[in-house]
Amino acid sequence: ILTSKAAVVTGSTGGIGLAVARGLAKEGADVVLNGFGKPEEIEKARAGIAAEFGVRAIYSGADMSKPAEIAEMMAMAEKELGRIDVLVNNAGIQFVAPVEDFPVEKWDAILAINLSSAFHTIRAAVPGMKARGYGRIVNIASAHSIVASPYKSAYVAAKHGLLGMTKSVALEVAGQGITANCISPGYVWTPLVESQIPDTMKARGLTKEQVIEDVLLKAQPTKEFVTVEQVAAIVTFLCSDAAKQMTGANLSVDGGWTAQ
Ligand code: NAD
Repeated sequence: ILTSKAAVVTGSTGGIGLAVARGLAKEGADVVLNGFGKPEEIEKARAGIAAEFGVRAIYSGADMSKPAEIAEMMAMAEKELGRIDVLVNNAGIQFVAPVEDFPVEKWDAILAINLSSAFHTIRAAVPGMKARGYGRIVNIASAHSIVASPYKSAYVAAKHGLLGMTKSVALEVAGQGITANCISPGYVWTPLVESQIPDTMKARGLTKEQVIEDVLLKAQPTKEFVTVEQVAAIVTFLCSDAAKQMTGANLSVDGGWTAQ
């Protein structure tokens, strides 16, 4: 469904973003990978996508906390791939601390990466999308775009803000072939989550199953993690014709978390 289209996925060197980039490439889109990591691993992911799906895959190391680098990445994508049809704002970081102790630089970084970077990519991508009459903006928010948890003031503020901006953009571009939506995952199974389990087992004297059900998935009624492929499949669906009238929406994929 995305042959001869091009996609930019921020924060796509691992986790959800890489699965999203692979999902879009599978549908025929050329992709821009972005994010940090070991150069050889990034190159392996990039070359793997190009070889496996027969698309162009390029990489930008732009730091999503730096507006000038974001502008460069977007210009590079337009220049190299000729267009940006699909924009997935996925880059995100987390920091947990009581509000009175929350480091100011962590607040600024979370707001910059999890919220403002999407403003900067969107403002760069929209003119081309309008000119071509097609665009899909997908912002990876979180259950924390709807509900809060303690000690996550910056993350919750950024994700609520991302949802608000998405709705506003959706209204601005309505009727021009462009949609803007959020996907809001609950807990997603990523290497980051997996690597926390042994330490928590030791610290609390719990089994792996207890850590998963009673600690990690306490808020998630299905007691199962979301997979990165499930998030990627929703992004691909949002790019299809079937999703043409879905805009300004927040798609929860959270095992029932926010239904409570
Ligand atoms: P991850 O840590 O596995 O991947 C994050 C990606 O962003 C990596 O590619 C990293 O290199 C990149 N990144 C980090 N800082 C960056 C910066 N300054 N500039 C450019 N790239 C940067 O995280 P993930 O779990 O895949 O999360 C992806 C998104 O999904 C985030 O926005 C996160 O808030 C959201 N999310 C994750 C979960 C979860 O349980 N994993 C749940 C809900 C929402």
